[in-house]
Amino acid sequence: MSAEKLDYYEVLGVGKNADPDDIKKAYRQAALKYHPDRNRDDANAETKFKSAAEAYEVLSDPEKRERYNKYGHAGLRGAAGHDFSHMDVSDIFSVFEDIFGGGIFGGGRQRRRARGVDLQVQVEISLSDVATGCEKTIEFKRNEHCDDCAGSGAAPGTEKQTCTTCGGYGQVEQSSGFGMIFGRMITACPACGGQGQRIVTPCRICRGSGRHPKKRTVVVKIPAGIEDGQAVRVRGEGDPGPEGATAGDLHCLVVVQPHPFLERHGNNLVCKVPISFTQAALGTRIEVPTLKGKAELNIPRGTQYAQTFRLRGIGLPDLRTGMVGDELIQILIEIPKRLSEQQETLLRDFAETENEHVLPESKGFFSKMVDYLSGEND
Ligand SMILES: [Zn+2]
Ligand SMILES: [Zn+2]
Repeated sequence: MSAEKLDYYEVLGVGKNADPDDIKKAYRQAALKYHPDRNRDDANAETKFKSAAEAYEVLSDPEKRERYNKYGHAGLRGAAGHDFSHMDVSDIFSVFEDIFGGGIFGGGRQRRRARGVDLQVQVEISLSDVATGCEKTIEFKRNEHCDDCAGSGAAPGTEKQTCTTCGGYGQVEQSSGFGMIFGRMITACPACGGQGQRIVTPCRICRGSGRHPKKRTVVVKIPAGIEDGQAVRVRGEGDPGPEGATAGDLHCLVVVQPHPFLERHGNNLVCKVPISFTQAALGTRIEVPTLKGKAELNIPRGTQYAQTFRLRGIGLPDLRTGMVGDELIQILIEIPKRLSEQQETLLRDFAETENEHVLPESKGFFSKMVDYLSGEND
Protein backbone atom coordinates (compact mmCIF):
# COMPACT_ATOMS: atom_id res chain seq x y z
CA MET A 1 0.00 0.00 0.00
CA SER A 2 2.87 2.34 -0.65
CA ALA A 3 1.36 3.52 -3.92
CA GLU A 4 0.53 7.16 -4.02
CA LYS A 5 -2.94 7.83 -2.78
CA LEU A 6 -5.51 9.18 -5.16
CA ASP A 7 -7.51 12.28 -4.55
CA TYR A 8 -10.78 11.16 -3.02
CA TYR A 9 -12.80 13.85 -4.79
CA GLU A 10 -11.36 12.77 -8.11
CA VAL A 11 -12.04 9.11 -7.35
CA LEU A 12 -15.72 9.85 -6.88
CA GLY A 13 -15.78 12.55 -9.54
CA VAL A 14 -17.28 15.22 -7.31
CA GLY A 15 -16.23 18.77 -6.47
CA LYS A 16 -14.74 19.86 -3.16
CA ASN A 17 -18.03 21.42 -2.20
CA ALA A 18 -20.20 18.44 -3.01
CA ASP A 19 -22.90 17.88 -0.42
CA PRO A 20 -23.43 14.53 1.35
CA ASP A 21 -26.20 13.52 -1.05
CA ASP A 22 -24.05 14.11 -4.11
CA ILE A 23 -21.24 12.11 -2.54
CA LYS A 24 -23.57 9.26 -1.79
CA LYS A 25 -24.97 9.30 -5.30
CA ALA A 26 -21.49 9.43 -6.82
CA TYR A 27 -20.30 6.51 -4.74
CA ARG A 28 -23.35 4.47 -5.58
CA GLN A 29 -22.73 5.02 -9.30
CA ALA A 30 -19.03 4.24 -9.01
CA ALA A 31 -19.69 1.04 -7.08
CA LEU A 32 -22.17 -0.16 -9.67
CA LYS A 33 -19.94 0.84 -12.56
CA TYR A 34 -16.80 -0.85 -11.24
CA HIS A 35 -18.37 -3.86 -9.59
CA PRO A 36 -16.01 -6.74 -10.49
CA ASP A 37 -18.93 -8.94 -11.54
CA ARG A 38 -19.80 -6.46 -14.24
CA ASN A 39 -16.21 -5.94 -15.38
CA ARG A 40 -14.83 -9.40 -15.74
CA ASP A 41 -12.32 -8.38 -18.39
CA ASP A 42 -11.10 -5.24 -16.68
CA ALA A 43 -8.43 -6.15 -14.15
CA ASN A 44 -8.45 -2.65 -12.70
CA ALA A 45 -12.15 -2.61 -11.94
CA GLU A 46 -11.76 -4.17 -8.52
CA THR A 47 -9.08 -1.65 -7.52
CA LYS A 48 -11.30 1.19 -8.67
CA PHE A 49 -14.22 -0.33 -6.82
CA LYS A 50 -12.20 -0.47 -3.61
CA SER A 51 -10.81 3.03 -4.04
CA ALA A 52 -14.35 4.33 -4.39
CA ALA A 53 -15.34 2.62 -1.14
CA GLU A 54 -12.33 4.12 0.62
CA ALA A 55 -13.08 7.58 -0.75
CA TYR A 56 -16.69 7.31 0.25
CA GLU A 57 -15.90 6.20 3.77
CA VAL A 58 -13.81 9.31 4.30
CA LEU A 59 -15.96 11.86 2.48
CA SER A 60 -19.21 10.63 4.02
CA ASP A 61 -17.88 11.19 7.53
CA PRO A 62 -17.91 14.94 8.34
CA GLU A 63 -15.03 14.70 10.77
CA LYS A 64 -12.81 12.65 8.49
CA ARG A 65 -13.72 14.80 5.53
CA GLU A 66 -12.65 17.92 7.38
CA ARG A 67 -9.35 16.36 8.40
CA TYR A 68 -8.79 15.22 4.85
CA ASN A 69 -9.57 18.68 3.47
CA LYS A 70 -7.12 20.26 5.87
CA TYR A 71 -4.27 17.78 5.94
CA GLY A 72 -4.80 15.44 3.02
CA HIS A 73 -4.14 11.74 3.53
CA ALA A 74 -1.83 12.50 6.44
CA GLY A 75 -4.82 13.84 8.36
CA LEU A 76 -6.44 10.41 8.33
CA ARG A 77 -3.58 8.54 9.89
CA GLY A 78 -4.78 6.66 12.91
CA ALA A 79 -8.44 7.25 12.12
CA ALA A 80 -10.62 4.18 12.41
CA GLY A 81 -11.73 2.84 9.08
CA HIS A 82 -11.80 -0.24 6.91
CA ASP A 83 -8.92 -1.70 4.98
CA PHE A 84 -10.86 -2.13 1.77
CA SER A 85 -7.87 -3.33 -0.20
CA HIS A 86 -7.99 -6.58 1.77
CA MET A 87 -11.74 -6.92 1.90
CA ASP A 88 -13.88 -8.99 -0.30
CA VAL A 89 -16.35 -7.25 -2.52
CA SER A 90 -19.45 -8.56 -0.81
CA ASP A 91 -18.09 -7.49 2.58
CA ILE A 92 -17.64 -3.99 1.22
CA PHE A 93 -21.29 -4.03 0.27
CA SER A 94 -22.26 -5.08 3.73
CA VAL A 95 -20.30 -2.19 5.22
CA PHE A 96 -22.43 0.19 3.18
CA GLU A 97 -25.58 -1.85 3.41
CA ASP A 98 -27.65 1.23 4.15
CA ILE A 99 -26.77 2.68 0.75
CA PHE A 100 -27.31 -0.42 -1.30
CA GLY A 101 -30.26 -1.70 0.61
CA GLY A 102 -28.41 -4.94 1.17
CA GLY A 103 -29.82 -6.72 -1.84
CA ILE A 104 -28.29 -5.42 -5.02
CA PHE A 105 -25.68 -8.05 -5.64
CA GLY A 106 -26.57 -11.58 -4.75
CA GLY A 107 -28.73 -10.69 -1.82
CA GLY A 108 -27.89 -9.09 1.46
CA ARG A 109 -24.83 -10.58 3.00
CA GLN A 110 -24.79 -10.93 6.69
CA ARG A 111 -23.25 -7.82 8.10
CA ARG A 112 -20.23 -8.10 10.30
CA ARG A 113 -20.87 -5.03 12.33
CA ALA A 114 -22.93 -4.96 15.51
CA ARG A 115 -24.56 -8.36 15.65
CA GLY A 116 -26.51 -10.12 18.31
CA VAL A 117 -24.65 -12.54 20.51
CA ASP A 118 -24.23 -16.15 19.35
CA LEU A 119 -25.74 -18.79 21.57
CA GLN A 120 -24.83 -22.42 22.02
CA VAL A 121 -27.04 -25.32 23.00
CA GLN A 122 -26.35 -29.03 23.29
CA VAL A 123 -28.34 -31.47 21.22
CA GLU A 124 -28.26 -35.13 22.13
CA ILE A 125 -28.82 -37.57 19.32
CA SER A 126 -28.56 -41.34 18.98
CA LEU A 127 -26.32 -43.29 16.64
CA SER A 128 -29.42 -44.14 14.59
CA ASP A 129 -30.04 -40.40 14.22
CA VAL A 130 -26.50 -40.11 12.84
CA ALA A 131 -27.29 -42.83 10.28
CA THR A 132 -30.46 -41.22 8.97
CA GLY A 133 -30.12 -37.54 9.84
CA CYS A 134 -32.87 -36.08 11.98
CA GLU A 135 -34.80 -33.06 13.09
CA LYS A 136 -34.67 -32.04 16.72
CA THR A 137 -36.86 -29.59 18.52
CA ILE A 138 -34.78 -27.42 20.74
CA GLU A 139 -36.00 -25.21 23.51
CA PHE A 140 -33.74 -22.51 24.75
CA LYS A 141 -33.82 -19.02 26.16
CA ARG A 142 -32.55 -15.99 24.39
CA ASN A 143 -32.48 -12.33 25.28
CA GLU A 144 -35.32 -10.91 23.24
CA HIS A 145 -36.07 -7.23 23.01
CA CYS A 146 -38.28 -6.34 25.95
CA ASP A 147 -41.94 -6.09 24.93
CA ASP A 148 -42.79 -3.46 27.49
CA CYS A 149 -40.31 -0.86 26.28
CA ALA A 150 -39.84 -2.23 22.74
CA GLY A 151 -36.21 -2.83 23.57
CA SER A 152 -35.40 0.78 24.34
CA GLY A 153 -34.90 0.20 28.05
CA ALA A 154 -36.85 3.35 28.84
CA ALA A 155 -40.08 2.92 30.80
CA PRO A 156 -43.15 3.00 28.54
CA GLY A 157 -44.32 6.58 28.03
CA THR A 158 -40.88 8.03 28.75
CA GLU A 159 -38.23 9.00 26.25
CA LYS A 160 -34.52 8.54 26.20
CA GLN A 161 -32.73 11.83 26.58
CA THR A 162 -29.73 13.09 24.73
CA CYS A 163 -26.66 12.45 26.82
CA THR A 164 -25.46 15.70 28.35
CA THR A 165 -21.90 14.46 28.73
CA CYS A 166 -21.27 13.89 25.04
CA GLY A 167 -24.09 15.97 23.62
CA GLY A 168 -25.43 12.92 21.81
CA TYR A 169 -22.25 12.11 19.88
CA GLY A 170 -21.48 9.02 21.88
CA GLN A 171 -17.82 9.99 21.97
CA VAL A 172 -15.86 12.25 24.23
CA GLU A 173 -12.51 13.87 23.83
CA GLN A 174 -10.27 13.31 26.75
CA SER A 175 -7.52 15.74 27.55
CA SER A 176 -4.18 14.14 27.99
CA GLY A 177 -3.50 13.73 31.65
CA PHE A 178 -0.27 11.84 31.29
CA GLY A 179 1.97 14.26 29.50
CA MET A 180 0.88 13.31 26.03
CA ILE A 181 2.19 15.91 23.72
CA PHE A 182 0.01 15.22 20.76
CA GLY A 183 -3.49 15.83 21.21
CA ARG A 184 -6.65 14.33 21.80
CA MET A 185 -7.89 10.95 22.65
CA ILE A 186 -11.40 10.15 21.58
CA THR A 187 -13.20 7.45 23.50
CA ALA A 188 -16.73 6.15 23.86
CA CYS A 189 -18.70 8.37 26.22
CA PRO A 190 -18.59 6.77 29.68
CA ALA A 191 -21.92 8.29 30.70
CA CYS A 192 -24.00 6.72 27.92
CA GLY A 193 -21.69 3.91 26.83
CA GLY A 194 -21.36 5.46 23.38
CA GLN A 195 -25.09 5.43 22.71
CA GLY A 196 -25.50 9.20 22.73
CA GLN A 197 -28.67 8.81 24.73
CA ARG A 198 -29.45 8.07 28.32
CA ILE A 199 -32.39 6.38 29.95
CA VAL A 200 -33.99 8.61 32.56
CA THR A 201 -36.67 6.24 33.81
CA PRO A 202 -35.65 2.62 33.27
CA CYS A 203 -38.27 0.11 32.17
CA ARG A 204 -39.39 -1.89 35.17
CA ILE A 205 -39.56 -5.21 33.39
CA CYS A 206 -36.04 -5.24 31.96
CA ARG A 207 -34.51 -2.71 34.38
CA GLY A 208 -33.29 -0.60 31.51
CA SER A 209 -31.43 -3.30 29.64
CA GLY A 210 -34.03 -3.45 26.88
CA ARG A 211 -33.70 -7.23 27.02
CA HIS A 212 -35.80 -9.93 28.48
CA PRO A 213 -34.98 -13.65 28.49
CA LYS A 214 -37.63 -15.56 26.58
CA LYS A 215 -38.20 -19.18 25.75
CA ARG A 216 -37.84 -20.08 22.16
CA THR A 217 -38.40 -23.28 20.22
CA VAL A 218 -36.51 -24.09 17.06
CA VAL A 219 -36.50 -27.19 14.90
CA VAL A 220 -32.95 -28.00 13.86
CA LYS A 221 -32.03 -30.24 10.97
CA ILE A 222 -29.10 -32.48 11.88
CA PRO A 223 -27.44 -33.93 8.79
CA ALA A 224 -26.70 -37.63 8.51
CA GLY A 225 -23.10 -38.53 9.27
CA ILE A 226 -22.50 -35.72 11.75
CA GLU A 227 -19.78 -36.37 14.31
CA ASP A 228 -19.97 -36.07 18.05
CA GLY A 229 -18.75 -32.57 18.98
CA GLN A 230 -19.64 -30.93 15.67
CA ALA A 231 -22.06 -28.03 15.69
CA VAL A 232 -24.93 -27.12 13.41
CA ARG A 233 -25.31 -23.39 12.98
CA VAL A 234 -28.78 -21.92 12.75
CA ARG A 235 -28.48 -18.41 11.42
CA GLY A 236 -30.31 -15.65 13.18
CA GLU A 237 -31.51 -17.70 16.14
CA GLY A 238 -29.06 -16.18 18.61
CA ASP A 239 -29.81 -13.05 20.56
CA PRO A 240 -31.37 -10.28 18.49
CA GLY A 241 -28.89 -7.57 17.53
CA PRO A 242 -28.96 -3.99 18.70
CA GLU A 243 -31.58 -1.91 16.94
CA GLY A 244 -31.91 -3.10 13.39
CA ALA A 245 -28.77 -5.23 13.37
CA THR A 246 -28.66 -8.92 12.50
CA ALA A 247 -29.35 -11.41 15.24
CA GLY A 248 -26.57 -13.74 16.34
CA ASP A 249 -26.51 -17.42 15.44
CA LEU A 250 -27.48 -20.48 17.40
CA HIS A 251 -24.80 -23.15 17.50
CA CYS A 252 -26.22 -26.59 18.20
CA LEU A 253 -23.44 -28.69 19.60
CA VAL A 254 -24.14 -32.31 18.76
CA VAL A 255 -23.57 -34.94 21.41
CA VAL A 256 -23.92 -38.50 20.12
CA GLN A 257 -25.16 -40.85 22.80
CA PRO A 258 -23.15 -44.04 23.18
CA HIS A 259 -24.83 -47.14 21.73
CA PRO A 260 -25.00 -50.23 23.95
CA PHE A 261 -23.32 -52.42 21.31
CA LEU A 262 -21.98 -50.35 18.46
CA GLU A 263 -18.91 -48.15 18.50
CA ARG A 264 -18.20 -45.62 15.81
CA HIS A 265 -14.91 -45.72 13.93
CA GLY A 266 -15.20 -43.05 11.25
CA ASN A 267 -18.01 -44.22 9.01
CA ASN A 268 -17.74 -47.80 10.19
CA LEU A 269 -19.42 -49.32 13.20
CA VAL A 270 -17.59 -51.85 15.30
CA CYS A 271 -19.36 -54.47 17.36
CA LYS A 272 -17.48 -56.84 19.64
CA VAL A 273 -19.27 -60.15 19.89
CA PRO A 274 -18.26 -62.84 22.37
CA ILE A 275 -18.64 -66.47 21.35
CA SER A 276 -17.58 -69.62 23.14
CA PHE A 277 -14.33 -71.36 22.24
CA THR A 278 -16.28 -74.36 21.01
CA GLN A 279 -18.33 -72.13 18.68
CA ALA A 280 -15.10 -70.65 17.41
CA ALA A 281 -13.56 -74.06 16.85
CA LEU A 282 -16.58 -75.75 15.34
CA GLY A 283 -18.27 -72.83 13.58
CA THR A 284 -21.75 -71.48 14.20
CA ARG A 285 -24.36 -68.97 13.10
CA ILE A 286 -25.00 -65.99 15.38
CA GLU A 287 -27.19 -62.92 15.52
CA VAL A 288 -25.48 -59.57 15.81
CA PRO A 289 -26.98 -56.18 16.67
CA THR A 290 -27.16 -53.53 13.94
CA LEU A 291 -28.62 -50.02 13.86
CA LYS A 292 -31.75 -51.44 12.27
CA GLY A 293 -32.18 -54.38 14.63
CA LYS A 294 -30.16 -57.52 14.00
CA ALA A 295 -28.38 -59.45 11.30
CA GLU A 296 -27.30 -63.07 10.99
CA LEU A 297 -23.66 -63.90 10.63
CA ASN A 298 -21.93 -67.14 9.76
CA ILE A 299 -18.93 -67.95 11.94
CA PRO A 300 -16.72 -70.47 10.15
CA ARG A 301 -14.88 -73.28 11.91
CA GLY A 302 -11.54 -72.26 13.28
CA THR A 303 -12.40 -68.60 13.85
CA GLN A 304 -9.63 -66.84 15.76
CA TYR A 305 -9.76 -64.37 18.58
CA ALA A 306 -10.26 -60.76 17.32
CA GLN A 307 -11.02 -61.97 13.80
CA THR A 308 -13.25 -59.44 12.04
CA PHE A 309 -16.24 -59.96 9.76
CA ARG A 310 -17.60 -57.21 7.59
CA LEU A 311 -21.28 -56.47 7.01
CA ARG A 312 -21.20 -54.11 4.06
CA GLY A 313 -23.21 -50.93 3.76
CA ILE A 314 -24.86 -50.84 7.16
CA GLY A 315 -22.45 -48.41 8.81
CA LEU A 316 -22.82 -44.63 8.83
CA PRO A 317 -23.03 -42.24 5.89
CA ASP A 318 -20.18 -39.82 5.30
CA LEU A 319 -21.22 -36.27 6.15
CA ARG A 320 -19.94 -34.91 2.84
CA THR A 321 -20.08 -37.72 0.29
CA GLY A 322 -22.99 -39.73 1.74
CA MET A 323 -21.00 -42.94 1.16
CA VAL A 324 -22.11 -45.48 3.73
CA GLY A 325 -19.56 -47.40 5.78
CA ASP A 326 -19.69 -50.99 7.05
CA GLU A 327 -20.33 -52.75 10.30
CA LEU A 328 -17.36 -54.72 11.53
CA ILE A 329 -17.99 -57.65 13.81
CA GLN A 330 -14.99 -58.41 15.95
CA ILE A 331 -15.01 -61.81 17.58
CA LEU A 332 -14.12 -62.25 21.22
CA ILE A 333 -13.66 -65.79 22.49
CA GLU A 334 -14.82 -66.59 25.96
CA ILE A 335 -13.11 -69.25 27.96
CA PRO A 336 -15.38 -70.91 30.53
CA LYS A 337 -14.46 -70.08 34.11
CA ARG A 338 -16.17 -73.11 35.52
CA LEU A 339 -16.46 -76.56 34.05
CA SER A 340 -18.83 -79.34 34.94
CA GLU A 341 -17.27 -82.66 35.78
CA GLN A 342 -18.20 -84.02 32.36
CA GLN A 343 -16.79 -81.00 30.56
CA GLU A 344 -13.57 -81.26 32.46
CA THR A 345 -13.15 -84.91 31.55
CA LEU A 346 -13.82 -84.13 27.88
CA LEU A 347 -11.39 -81.24 27.88
CA ARG A 348 -8.65 -83.23 29.48
CA ASP A 349 -9.12 -85.94 26.88
CA PHE A 350 -9.01 -83.23 24.23
CA ALA A 351 -5.84 -81.77 25.67
CA GLU A 352 -4.14 -85.14 25.51
CA THR A 353 -4.94 -85.41 21.81
CA GLU A 354 -3.62 -81.90 21.33
CA ASN A 355 -0.22 -82.84 22.66
CA GLU A 356 0.15 -85.28 19.82
CA HIS A 357 -1.26 -83.04 17.12
CA VAL A 358 0.02 -79.51 17.41
CA LEU A 359 -2.18 -77.07 15.55
CA PRO A 360 -0.61 -75.40 12.50
CA GLU A 361 -1.09 -71.87 13.87
CA SER A 362 0.50 -72.83 17.16
CA LYS A 363 3.38 -74.57 15.43
CA GLY A 364 4.09 -71.41 13.54
CA PHE A 365 4.10 -69.44 16.75
CA PHE A 366 6.38 -71.80 18.62
CA SER A 367 8.84 -72.25 15.82
CA LYS A 368 8.98 -68.46 15.46
CA MET A 369 9.66 -68.19 19.16
CA VAL A 370 12.48 -70.70 18.94
CA ASP A 371 14.00 -68.63 16.11
CA TYR A 372 13.58 -65.50 18.16
CA LEU A 373 15.25 -66.96 21.26
CA SER A 374 18.17 -68.30 19.22
CA GLY A 375 18.76 -64.86 17.78
CA GLU A 376 18.00 -65.75 14.17
CA ASN A 377 15.48 -62.99 13.77
CA ASP A 378 17.92 -60.12 14.36
ZN1 LIG B 1 -38.08 -3.05 29.05
ZN1 LIG C 1 -22.81 10.31 26.27
